[in-house]
Amino acid sequence: YLQKMNLKKYIQDIPDFPKPGVIFKDINPLLANPEATAQTINLLAKGLYGFNATKIVGIESRGFLLGILLAQKMGLGFVPIRKPGKLPGKIEKQTYALEYGEDSIEIQQNSISEGDLVIVHDDVLATGGTAAAACELIEKCGGTVVQCNFLMELGFLEGRKKLGNYALHSLIHY
Ligand code: IMP
Repeated sequence: YLQKMNLKKYIQDIPDFPKPGVIFKDINPLLANPEATAQTINLLAKGLYGFNATKIVGIESRGFLLGILLAQKMGLGFVPIRKPGKLPGKIEKQTYALEYGEDSIEIQQNSISEGDLVIVHDDVLATGGTAAAACELIEKCGGTVVQCNFLMELGFLEGRKKLGNYALHSLIHY
């Protein structure tokens, strides 16, 4: 039996990382604690059973960590979305705007089938650009995004606005 834990206790603020003025939320203390990790997966999974999902997509790289545990917990296959040039075979690519410049992510074309119902998981929802691009990739492959799922949401960055077309769930809010 797991006592209800205060999961925020396991997320550490790191000032000025990766650059001055940014406060980075570090989930490594949570991953280092098996009870906190188990509770996180249980709570994330709880909100996902109603969607009849067929796949979980995790976004590189921290979206892989809880994403694969979540997929296993739910008995679903896991699909990675990666930075450019990392995935072999036929890929779909999506470019999206950053504060300064742009970035791209890729998915393997055959990793999603027509009719797949997909949950997109990442550790953090910040401005929403990454998750919105991930949703586009899944749709290019013929899948339907049934929920965007995050460990934590940085509400002040208003990432939700970019994901207005999708069901969205975050376990922890800042
Ligand atoms: P967005 O595209 O601005 O929503 O940024 C989301 C991406 O940046 C996710 O893949 C996160 O892993 C990463 N990210 C942004 N802020 C943080 C943070 O404070 N801690 C950890 N990852 C972050």
